[in-house]
Amino acid sequence: MSTAPSAIVKIVVDRPIKEPFDYLWDKEKLLCDPQVGMMVEVPFGKTKLLGIVYEVSARSNIESSRLKAVDNVAPLLPLDKKLMQLAQFASRYYLHGLGETIIPAIPKWWRTSHNWTNLTNKLNIKKSAEDAIAKNQKVIAPEQLNDEQSAALQSLCAHPSKQFKPFYLNGVTGSGKTAVYLSYLAQILKISSDSQALIMLPEINLTPQLEKRIAAHLPNIEMAVLHSGLTEKQRAVAWYRVMTGRARIILGTRLSIMTPIPFLAAIVVDEENDSSFKQQEGLSYSARDLAIWRAKNEQLPIVLASATPSAQTWFATKEGRYQELQLTKRIHGFQMPQLYLQPPEKLQPLPTIDSKLVEALRDNLNKGRQALVFINRRGLAPTLTCLSCGWLSECMHCSGYMVIHRQLAQYKSSMLCCHHCGLLKPPPTMCPNCGDADLQPLGRGTQKIEDQLQAQIPGINILRVDADSASTSKKSKELFNQIHEGDAQIIVGTQMLAKGHDYQNIGLVCVLDSDARLYSSDYRAPENLFAQLIQVAGRAGRYGGEQAKILIETRYPNDPVYQYLKDYDVNGYMKHLMNERKNAGLPPFRYHALVHAEAKLKNVALQHLQAAKEFLRKAWADKVGVTIFDPVPKAMARKGGQERAQLLIEADNRIQLQALLDELDLYLRDRSVGRITKVGKVRWSIERDPILI
Ligand code: ADP
Ligand code: ZN
Ligand code: ZN
Repeated sequence: MSTAPSAIVKIVVDRPIKEPFDYLWDKEKLLCDPQVGMMVEVPFGKTKLLGIVYEVSARSNIESSRLKAVDNVAPLLPLDKKLMQLAQFASRYYLHGLGETIIPAIPKWWRTSHNWTNLTNKLNIKKSAEDAIAKNQKVIAPEQLNDEQSAALQSLCAHPSKQFKPFYLNGVTGSGKTAVYLSYLAQILKISSDSQALIMLPEINLTPQLEKRIAAHLPNIEMAVLHSGLTEKQRAVAWYRVMTGRARIILGTRLSIMTPIPFLAAIVVDEENDSSFKQQEGLSYSARDLAIWRAKNEQLPIVLASATPSAQTWFATKEGRYQELQLTKRIHGFQMPQLYLQPPEKLQPLPTIDSKLVEALRDNLNKGRQALVFINRRGLAPTLTCLSCGWLSECMHCSGYMVIHRQLAQYKSSMLCCHHCGLLKPPPTMCPNCGDADLQPLGRGTQKIEDQLQAQIPGINILRVDADSASTSKKSKELFNQIHEGDAQIIVGTQMLAKGHDYQNIGLVCVLDSDARLYSSDYRAPENLFAQLIQVAGRAGRYGGEQAKILIETRYPNDPVYQYLKDYDVNGYMKHLMNERKNAGLPPFRYHALVHAEAKLKNVALQHLQAAKEFLRKAWADKVGVTIFDPVPKAMARKGGQERAQLLIEADNRIQLQALLDELDLYLRDRSVGRITKVGKVRWSIERDPILI
């Protein structure tokens, strides 16, 4: 047992380890008492790491002479109890250590102690706060809500502010959902002068436009924007302003869900069905799901806004667990575009733009309108092929094809790029298989479409918007400005174009190559396609007068996705989808987890999963409602030189699944160092609510 003035603290760090570590706390050196949630620096192996105090305790099982001491304490209030509870929940639910759950959500700048002294100078908080307000001042007036919007606002306000209540704000694109939730937040923030609100968005490039509107509805309220496109320093400042309660509106992408927000009073998740709310790597959390949990735990209202709900939200609404608020009309009576399903002219090995599309584009240009050409593949073409022997430019590390990119900034010529492992190499001059020099691009991406349009409609201004052209938030701001100002006549782009933007003059939308997603192995692909097409259609016709058009090139016009889309019948489509889901035992009717495994050799990865299955079979296979499948190689079986496999587990309810996974996690950890097995060096992880591919 330790004696004063030292205490023992249990500390978590960002390492794949479940248990906290014991450290000594020397009050005289640290000049304060330990408190749960404090950010500290601790020696760890040969390095120093940021740690979070998890527990203050009187004793340790380790002799105190063998314990190391905490080096430094961050000059910040401890992370609040509610945030710690959220992190603890996420840590258990997603089967990660508490440290590896909570610490990645803390800006890197705050993770090293040399930034902790002389804060005021280093952060220049005052100036950045002034900037934030100054920006807010050259602004527009808030919209006067129409009847439908007012009714929705009233329903929101009718609910007592300090109680958990999920709302589903349902309305076609451009029906004024944003205006409703901003008016609501203005009300909430009026109730108490220190209350804060979190607005979560799927994409970074949505934020500039929304910032202006927030300033209109919430003048002189400090706002903080949190996304991964900021510099470390900017993020550190924004986070600090939030955690100290200065910034009262927090606008952020998925990573913002684990920000300490001491006076949080309401949460909004805009475009709540968007798959970007799901983190794909590491702790694969769903920020939308965590937002619901956070609202419940902190007794807050939460508004989920979307034109196309996620399956979960739709189901919860039908069951009466979420309250639905509907906006049925677009603002100013603008119509959704008339939809045409257009079969392509013929099967072509080297596709060009269909002449009917070109005609429609010309016609639209003549009317002085802008057009969007939507294709969900960046780059020049998906692959390079040999016309003699059919060779394809496969990635040497992955079971996927390398995509042709015209000039990437740093290279002079075209390059082949693997979108999975990032490998870049110049295209071969002749076929590596047969030596023929006639290598041609197969299929098409944004760059190819841009080239073809330029050739077919010379002299027009084409703008390309994709992850390559909008690689930084500055670049994407510029691109979107060019669209809003009308300089761009035809905009070619990926899904980046589709979401949230309020373009004023789009008369035509053309959708290319969407059929592939009807028949993808990902069960959510058609649903995501439907949502995306509703979004992209919603960019058109935001003006009075003649109805805009949306042209979809498809060989399967009778597919339910297109048939429901034709009438913008979201409810009809959701019913159809739910039937399918129910029959197939998919969420929200059953719950899933995937065990991932990666190794140099396929069999080693599969054997590891087979052992996991054996372990589960003994304890769980006879339990009603649990299905454990066989291990299989992943759809993309090789990535970055590693062979990948997965084991699917299905259960009727979450509690049962949690218990099973807790046991499995223990079993696998016992055989591993971190998440790499001692024998065979298999890297494994467990994913909850996976996107099944
Ligand atoms: P949504 O979020 O449903 O797509 P928005 O709130 O962005 O819709 O509204 C679409 C456009 O209509 C925006 O330009 C917005 O400023 C405008 N708008 C919203 N509500 C009103 C209103 N009551 N009166 C006038 N314009 C409005
Ligand atoms: Zn060849
Ligand atoms: Zn690759």
